[in-house]
Amino acid sequence: MLTIKDILARNHTWSEQVRRDDPDYFSRAAAAQAPEVLWIGCSDSRVGPDSLVSLPMGSIFVHRNIANIFATNDLNCLAVLEYAVDELHIPNIVVCGHYRCGGIHAAMQHSGIQPIDLWLDQVRYVYHRHTLELDHLDEEQRWRRLAELNVESQVHNIARNTIIREAWRRGQEVNIIGVIYDIHDGLLHQTGVQFSSYEEWQATQARG
Ligand SMILES: [Zn+2]
Repeated sequence: MLTIKDILARNHTWSEQVRRDDPDYFSRAAAAQAPEVLWIGCSDSRVGPDSLVSLPMGSIFVHRNIANIFATNDLNCLAVLEYAVDELHIPNIVVCGHYRCGGIHAAMQHSGIQPIDLWLDQVRYVYHRHTLELDHLDEEQRWRRLAELNVESQVHNIARNTIIREAWRRGQEVNIIGVIYDIHDGLLHQTGVQFSSYEEWQATQARG
């Protein structure tokens, strides 16, 4: 079992390695952060963003929760978005879902009154909006498809948020992009939902 001693030892090794490879790394990191990506991902231990896109620390501003939800009534989500857009002026917001997501699976199985059930109700709403499509699929396909639809739904939740609309209105570059991570081969795929302006987002609303 991994102990705190192991964790600290690994940290020391890592710190020494970074100093060896890039002696100025920590003085640069201490001065400021200038990330170009806000990553909204799942808490799942297999989908850590820095590793899977192979970017150095300092590149990605991260918010993670179970099933990569952007909850419009969650202060944590809203504060992260506000800081990322208004203070850090991050141009890319990536919502990353993943296949075989335990949160998505739980949302398909049952409901209840525990905190995780209430949290995952937001995925159940996505399911209910797409019942016609999802009910035709077998369980494995439904699990995959609901993960994709959930990403798309969270991209919409972000696009319709006042923080983003205000940023677009003043001409700030903000691209909101949905991706899904395939845990079987380590590859990211775009879901096809991406918005870079209010007009782009609004056009999808008119069609819907
Ligand atoms: Zn997950």
